[in-house]
Amino acid sequence: VAAREAASTSGTGAVEVVGLLRAAGLSPTAQRRTVFEVLAGYERPVSAAEVHDVLRGRGLRIGLTTVYRTLHALAEVGLVHVFAGEERRYRLCLPAPHVHLVCEACGLVIEGSVDAARRWWEPARKEADFVVNVEHSDVYGTCGRCLAGLRAG
Ligand SMILES: [Zn+2]
Ligand SMILES: [Zn+2]
Repeated sequence: VAAREAASTSGTGAVEVVGLLRAAGLSPTAQRRTVFEVLAGYERPVSAAEVHDVLRGRGLRIGLTTVYRTLHALAEVGLVHVFAGEERRYRLCLPAPHVHLVCEACGLVIEGSVDAARRWWEPARKEADFVVNVEHSDVYGTCGRCLAGLRAG
């Protein structure tokens, strides 16, 4: 059932998911493929409970603990990024270096350029004698769409 669910989900193809898991050193179990496919359907990071709800909604019998374990396995190999907060949230991540620009208003995450982020932080080197490690860092703010809404409202 899980495999059929994964294959029927739009977005990342089932075959591609298997390849990504294998390349990351994980055996492509039905649970990993299914959780990966659920995350692929979201632009914003989602909690383990949300992933669990989606799977239960599809009629899959899977425990919340298994969902957590699966998310952590995916995070450990860099396929998923964990966003800290009151509740941990998870989102698919790319292996290529980037920064996460996180909108605090709508939850959107944009992949930003590491080169640009290094330039933003260059003054910190002089002012605080500090070099920021920007790769895969999370920068919080407000996205353009939400800013436009704020300006309009
Ligand atoms: Zn990422
Ligand atoms: Zn936003």
